[in-house]
Amino acid sequence: MKKSFKGISSTALHSAINVNSEDAHLVPIYATSTFTYETTEIGIERFEGGDKDKIYSRWANPTCKAVEETIAALEAFGIKDIAGNDLQIKALLHSSGQAAMTTMFLSNLQSGDAIISHYSLYGGTYELLHKVLDNSGIKPFITNFNDIDEVEKIIIHNPSIKLMHIETPANPTNQCVDIEALSNLAKKFNLIVTVDNTFATPYLQQPFNYNVDFVFHSTTKFLNGHGTAIGGILLGKDIEFMKTKAWKWFALLGGNSNPFEAFLLLNGIKTLEIRMQQHCKNADQLANYLQQHQAIEKVNYVGLTTHPDYEIAKKQMRMPTPVFSFELKGGLQAGIDFQNKLQMCTRAVSLGTVDTLISHPASTTHVSVPREERIKFGITDGLIRLSVGIENIVDIIDDFEQALI
Ligand SMILES: *Cc1c(COP(=O)(O)O)cnc(C)c1O
Repeated sequence: MKKSFKGISSTALHSAINVNSEDAHLVPIYATSTFTYETTEIGIERFEGGDKDKIYSRWANPTCKAVEETIAALEAFGIKDIAGNDLQIKALLHSSGQAAMTTMFLSNLQSGDAIISHYSLYGGTYELLHKVLDNSGIKPFITNFNDIDEVEKIIIHNPSIKLMHIETPANPTNQCVDIEALSNLAKKFNLIVTVDNTFATPYLQQPFNYNVDFVFHSTTKFLNGHGTAIGGILLGKDIEFMKTKAWKWFALLGGNSNPFEAFLLLNGIKTLEIRMQQHCKNADQLANYLQQHQAIEKVNYVGLTTHPDYEIAKKQMRMPTPVFSFELKGGLQAGIDFQNKLQMCTRAVSLGTVDTLISHPASTTHVSVPREERIKFGITDGLIRLSVGIENIVDIIDDFEQALI
């Protein structure tokens, strides 16, 4: 059943099993809450089966399953397991990145356990750890993951730490951490290792290369690519765990996706490779243009040799992420003016859509955060966050040129 391909686009296009009976070219939108069985025996077989297929759509849905198989194939692309066979990954498609993360943490941890993670986490992750999990008796330890000795010290002194959560590259400064070094350290202490691969996508970075246990994505971003749906996916290489405990928590917490949004996501994934190539090429040219501009103080793009994590990114990523930030010399007012003057690029938060998205955190997402607080997280007054789109680079640069006076 599992085919393997030599290229990423072929994997993205042909990894879903054919689930339709009417010879439709595309995977149909199976908008149905429940499934029929012709005989009791067929029903028994399905209820006893490990895949929980064709029973009830909170448990499994064929359109969602097509997405799960496709993203699993992309994350496992070209990776072998210890026996030398193609790595097998199982995925569960959720209603959002946050839902996928919730299933991931709650199916692996219980009250009394702790998580070790790092600064510059995605805001929703930071809050989930500090508000929801902490409140349920799962304590977060937050440290600097570029200081491996310090991480080791914290793990040694806190035996309640059961899981290490990594996010790389991270917002807004493109901070990258070494997945291999962290995973090796975590495995010395038998920790579960989880990675948020949203900013990279499986095209730019495959954490399963480094012996990690779980990867998750907000599929809302580059995997969907067109900004049409919120979604999240949890992927694991312990197939038995994914089919039993992770699936049970997924089904009971109720964070499943739906066939319509799964269909939109599946269509988006088909062009992941060519989109990422264009996003990355544009980002590189734009970062180099910005770096020499007199109105700009600093460009936080991990593809520049001046970035402190340039070497780490080069080691574990195919290309740098097309989401980065830069600081305007003129501070708060310059940020507001720059955003207002844009004529083509889109003023919006989020990332990973085909059009270029620009945001000025100090006047939007972080407007209610005290200035000293946000500056600690790298959100300076003149910081502009951008997700470079696939428009023609000349038009992106033209828009910046006229907005950056
Ligand atoms: C968007 C995002 C999330 C949360 O995903 P949602 O789909 O919005 O729930 C988590 N991590 C990162 C890095 C993100 O960018």
